[in-house]
This record gives sequence, structure tokens and C-alpha cells, in this order.
Amino acid sequence: MKPLLIGGERRVTSHAAPDVNPSDISDVVDEFAQAGVAEAQDAVAAAAGAAPVWGRATPLRRHDLLKAVGDEVTARRDELGELLSREEGKTRPEGVAEATRAGQIFDFFAGEAMRAGGETLASTRPGVEIEITREPVGVVGIIAPWNFPLAIPAWKIAPALAFGNAVVFKPAELVPASAWALADIIDRAAKATGAPDGVFNLLIGRGGVVGQAMLEADHVDAVTFTGSVETGRRVGEACMRRQRRAQLEMGGKNPLVVLDDADMETALRAAIDGAFYATGQRCTASSRLIVTEGVYSRFVEELAARVRALKVDHALKDGTEIGPVVDETQLERNLKWVERARAEGGALRAGGERLKRETEGYFMAPALFADTVNRMSINREEVFGPVASVIRARDYGEALEIANDTPFGLSAGICTTSLKHASHFRRNAEAGMVMVNLATAGVDPHAPFGGRKGSSYGPREQGAYAREFYTSVKTAYTAP
Ligand code: NAD
Repeated sequence: MKPLLIGGERRVTSHAAPDVNPSDISDVVDEFAQAGVAEAQDAVAAAAGAAPVWGRATPLRRHDLLKAVGDEVTARRDELGELLSREEGKTRPEGVAEATRAGQIFDFFAGEAMRAGGETLASTRPGVEIEITREPVGVVGIIAPWNFPLAIPAWKIAPALAFGNAVVFKPAELVPASAWALADIIDRAAKATGAPDGVFNLLIGRGGVVGQAMLEADHVDAVTFTGSVETGRRVGEACMRRQRRAQLEMGGKNPLVVLDDADMETALRAAIDGAFYATGQRCTASSRLIVTEGVYSRFVEELAARVRALKVDHALKDGTEIGPVVDETQLERNLKWVERARAEGGALRAGGERLKRETEGYFMAPALFADTVNRMSINREEVFGPVASVIRARDYGEALEIANDTPFGLSAGICTTSLKHASHFRRNAEAGMVMVNLATAGVDPHAPFGGRKGSSYGPREQGAYAREFYTSVKTAYTAP
């Protein structure tokens, strides 16, 4: 049984839960100790004890911890990527790319720890000095989803520690092995670099139990959450009641607009990558493909042929392009979406059924719907699986209107060779991230990440912008 990590100690509990490989359900990755309310309270208390010590640590000490973590993650990226793929189901190259990115994120924030500074302002009063500094927030609770088991924890844990906060990390139930591997690396790096016990704690367990207990515990100063809209709202409300800082990253229904003047190969690649890679289980997935009339038929024909040719199989098999869906519940939900889209009048042009492979897993043929309209529920709600739909638009103006007609606003893409349309789209797409001639998914580790409308709440994640959430501003006035 793999333990929890509380106050620098590894702790087992009386309950353990198995972690099952979605590519092969006979393969149990490991058993993981399950935290309950008591462990959540202990973890928060341990973090509260460590926070003032870590908050006073020199930038170099924080840098050294993050650098040590980044170096180990990077050196072990093949092994960590394989473990990630085994428990979550993305393909091995996708798993290794994610592990590599996690290493880059720790490296970036090792540098940010050294660069953290303040500013001075001239006062309106003679002789008075104004100094603006940033202090740690204190204890940061981190609640993460299963779809990026290393990268999302990395982009929350690394800035939290870089800016002097202590962390309680609650990963998603389905991906404890990646969480444990990362926690073990951080714990050893913390001990090797002299960080206080309790600076980083890991709670594995059910969201409704241990996540909830963490939200209710005293001494949590901020909570950063990534996951579904429903849970996000609950987390936000719990934080609001206690006047805690909250950052919520939630769902998406991201549009990819393809104009008549688009380079067809670029558009097809962006659509395949954005809609179906990582089994479509990305908050930035291009689930609405909005195509103008002149290229509509050709785009649908060529895309459907490519979707049908995608190789769906065991995540760790060479040549697999699409791994399994993460679990049975999500697969059943996806299949219900296929039925619903059909019932609403969508024309199924590829896939949409459960697949059998050599191993017993949650395999699904990527589904492509054509001739859908934006008011259909398939185009309003997030599916979070390998399902995309095509919507016809008269021209660029109507395509933009459709793209923005959604409760979400995470990422939006356009494929065009027109500078005029690309520039107009960049300025007028109602989304936190805009992609031109690129898939809506796929972002850099040093650039701000986040959305608008129903997709996000609070300041941006990643890059230099991350410090907004993880620091508290202090303004000091000094008279001579
Ligand atoms: P989820 O909301 O079911 O779970 C997210 C996390 O919340 C898990 O760790 C879970 O254990 C925890 N949780 C559940 N109930 C809780 C409660 N009552 N109190 C505290 N914590 C609780 O989401 P998921 O299925 O793991 O992830 C898929 C969702 O994540 C999709 O909607 C996807 O769009 C979203 N997502 C968003 C982004 C983004 O940056 N916008 C990135 C990745 C995934």
C-alpha cells in the first residue's frame, strides 16, 4: 500500500483503494491509502506549522527545492510518463510529453523564486516612501483533476512553494500513482534542501470526503481548483463563506473556426489534435468545429476519413494514437452523448461505439458529428471525451458569433490565411486563450493559462502571472 504524506511522514490508513489501468483492467497499478477527515485536518495543521518557516526561507532555498524537483522529474520523464499513461490512459508519447512539461514548470518556478521582488512608488507626501512587497498567502489547498496527473499539480504546487506557501495537495481519485510519484520526489527534495516538514502534504482519497474536509479545515488560506464546473462552484462557495482566496479552472466548449481560405492540411491537423488527442479529455479540446460554407463538405469528408483511421488501443502499445477513456463511468457518459447528439439530429460521420481490443479496457472509437447546430446540447455542454461536432457557418462573421455563443470561454481557435480575420478573431474571441492556425489545446509552460465566463474564476495560472494568486500584496508607507 502506498502511503499519504503528512508533516514529512509517510502514513498508511486502514482503507486502501486500487488504481486500475484503463487500457487493461486486469492490471492494478498499485493500492493507495485513503485519507479521511482526520488526515485532512492533520495535513492542514502540518502545513500551517510549516508555512511561517517556509515563508521566511530565502529565495535561494526555495529555488534549490524547486530545482531539485525539476531536475528529478526531467531525468525520470520516461518512467514517470509511462506510469502516467498506465493509470490515466493517454498514449506513452503524450505521457512522456506531460512529464517533461512538469519538469519544465518546476524549473521555471525555481527561477521565479529568485526573481520575486517588489516595487516602490513616489508618495504624494514629501519624504514619505511607499514600498510594495508580496508576501506568501500561507496554506494553499490544491484540488486537481485526473486528466493531467502531473502537469496540473506541477503548475499549482511549483508557484505555491516558489512564493513561500505550504501546500496540501488533493489529487483526483483516478490518478494516485502519478500524485504519489511526484509527492515522493518533492518530499525527498524538501528534506535534502532543508525545507520544513509539512511544507508539502499529500492527501489521497475521495473528493467529497477528504477534499471537503480540507475545504472546511481551519488555517487554509487559499484553494486552487481544477475540475468540473459543478465541483468548482461548490469549492468556490465554500471558500467564499470562509473568505478564502479561490482560483477555479473548470470546463470548456472550445470552438475551432475553419474559414474558406484556411490551409486545409493545417485545419485538419488542428482539428484531429484538438478534438481527439489525449482521448478528447482536455479542458481545451476543440469540441465545436465551425466551418464556413466554401470548404464545409470537403473538410467534413477528409476529417471523417482521418478520424476513422485513428488507431485506438492500449496506451502503452507502440503506434497507438488514441488511448482508452479514463474509466467505465466516463465511457458510458460519452456513449450516452453520442445517442443524444444523434437524437437531436446530428449526422454521425465516424466512430461513436465501444471497441474491443486484446486487453479489456475502456476503448471508444472517436466520434465525429456533422450538420449540427450550436443550440444542440452536444454543442452547449462539455462531453470530456473523444466526441466532436461540426457546425456550418455562412461566413467569418457568423462563425465568430457561433464561436462566442457559449457559456464557456477557455480557448478559441481559427484556421485562416487572412491576416484581417486572424487579427479580428484574436481581439474578439471571448476566451482566455486564442490560437491561430493551431489546435485549441497545447500551451507553453511559461505563458498565462485560464479562461473567461463559465470556464474560470480568479487570476491566471502559470508563467509570471501565477504570482497574483500565490502572493498577498503589502503596501508600506515610511516617513523619514
Ligand atoms: P471533478 O470536478 O469531478 O474532480 C476534480 C477534483 O475535485 C478531484 O480531485 C475530486 O476528488 C475533487 N472533488 C470532488 N468533489 C469534491 C468536493 N465536494 N470537495 C472538494 N473536492 C472535491 O473533475 P474531474 O472529473 O476530475 O476532471 C474533469 C473536469 O476538469 C472537466 O470538466 C475538465 O474540463 C476540467 N478541467 C479543467 C481544466 C482547466 O484548466 N480549465 C483543466 C483540466 C480539466
